[in-house]
Amino acid sequence: MTSANHKQLLQSVKNFGIIHASLTQLSGAMNDTQLLRYSRQIMLPQVDIAGQQKLLNAKILIIGVGGLGSPAALYLAAAGVGQITLYDDDQVDLSNLQRQITHYMDDIGTDKVISTQQTLNKLNPDVKVIAYKQRLAGEDLDLAVSEADVVLDCSDNFSTRFAINAACVRQQTPLVSGAAIRFEGQVAVFTSGQNESPCYQCLYSDSGEELQNCATNGVLAPITGIIGCIQALEAMKLIMQVGETLAGRLLLLDGLTMEWQTMRLKRNPSCPCCGGH
Ligand SMILES: [Zn+2]
Repeated sequence: MTSANHKQLLQSVKNFGIIHASLTQLSGAMNDTQLLRYSRQIMLPQVDIAGQQKLLNAKILIIGVGGLGSPAALYLAAAGVGQITLYDDDQVDLSNLQRQITHYMDDIGTDKVISTQQTLNKLNPDVKVIAYKQRLAGEDLDLAVSEADVVLDCSDNFSTRFAINAACVRQQTPLVSGAAIRFEGQVAVFTSGQNESPCYQCLYSDSGEELQNCATNGVLAPITGIIGCIQALEAMKLIMQVGETLAGRLLLLDGLTMEWQTMRLKRNPSCPCCGGH
């Protein structure tokens, strides 16, 4: 694009903003670089300047920066989410690179949160990326969840998933849960405390079974990408309060037949996690 085109585009984005956004929304607003960077989103009437500003002000917690967390973090950073906090206690291994796209060859042996932080910083310096090499649990988990506007569960084991869910129920923080294995993926949103929304544990009983994971069952690379991207999209919708999220629904993908299914979810009144709420 020529610089004349850039100028024109910038002007049209600004005009668009003036038409659609109130003066209050415009104050404390974006600079020209940001208006240009996010122009394709700002042009959408459902987003507008106000929606982009909400993204820039948002804090998202991503737990696990593997196959799901990597693409989710990339899109959220590219889209201009103001603060992304990453938790993962693992280091990059050669076998991760097939699907964990924030890590590169040079990162093998590096902490995954550091490698992801570097990639996101390179992509978008607007985004504050906070990295913790830690398996998030206990009081730290509750604190991290309470400070976030939305939580993305990109972990790969049941005990972590139940713990994240319980913290999200306690803190009433929206949770976007994703999973991918073999050729299959699933995504759901849990907004505990709102509209009789179920929680993760209403669906899955804590039977002590271990979740099947990619390490033992394998996964085709793009399946994790698709599910991670949907998690990013749902998080952005929750932040901007647009559209209909997957709250109360479970979206299932069979990548082999490319069939999508949606299941309506009901709250379990005797759920050990959210039943008393
Ligand atoms: Zn529940």
